[in-house]
Amino acid sequence: MKDPVILILVLLFGISFGSFLNVLIYRLPAKESLVKPPSKCPNCGSKIRLYDNIPVISYMILGGRCRHCNKSISLRYPVIEILSGLLTVYAIYSFGFTLRGIEVVFLSLVFLAIFFIDLDHTIIPDIFTIPGIIIGIAVSLLPGSIVGWKQSLIGMAVGGGAFILVGMLGRIIFKKEALGFGDVKYAAMVGAFLGWKNLILMLIIASFLGSIIGISLIYLSGKKGKSTYIPFGPFLTVGAWISIYFGDYLIKAYLELAGI
Ligand SMILES: [Zn+2]
Repeated sequence: MKDPVILILVLLFGISFGSFLNVLIYRLPAKESLVKPPSKCPNCGSKIRLYDNIPVISYMILGGRCRHCNKSISLRYPVIEILSGLLTVYAIYSFGFTLRGIEVVFLSLVFLAIFFIDLDHTIIPDIFTIPGIIIGIAVSLLPGSIVGWKQSLIGMAVGGGAFILVGMLGRIIFKKEALGFGDVKYAAMVGAFLGWKNLILMLIIASFLGSIIGISLIYLSGKKGKSTYIPFGPFLTVGAWISIYFGDYLIKAYLELAGI
């Protein structure tokens, strides 16, 4: 899809949806209602009026501060809105209004929410992953989906299975919980949508990024030996996103390199 007018409309839709993602990211882990009460300033508690709640624009007009108490508002709100817009428009730009395009929009937005929730709270809520597994398998039955149902079922099983295995090994070797059960369901969901090949690619990319950033963080904080818990979900999310767009290319390049 290359029509600029439609792409701008899709971008605006994605940005607006980003506002809803902000609500999800902040309220879901706190088990607050998603519809009421209406948005409030976390500092002074004053209600945020509709005209102050326009994605990105209100933030810029208000200079990133609450209209009432002048306390600065986290830059994350507009950043999440912009990311939501860009990921949505890039999916439609790449795949058009096809089943694959809609799947990628759905995954991109779910990934975005999971990325920040896991970063903040080190949990991946079941409300995304369990319906996600079911939707992923159901969609794979339709023509034009990212992967067929066999790939999808194997992907789900490999995703869930690999993580349970790594989790058990981690418990035996490190005598502690290495992976949360949330990661298991997340990997099963990604496997159901993207198939087992992309799933393995995602795990490799995520482990690679996780090791580099994990080691750098330990090194930078200077607390060697002291265990710092880094959630794995954000790395899985980046790995899955790379797999969506570059998976076919990377897998083919790897197989050629390996001479298979
Ligand atoms: Zn305020």
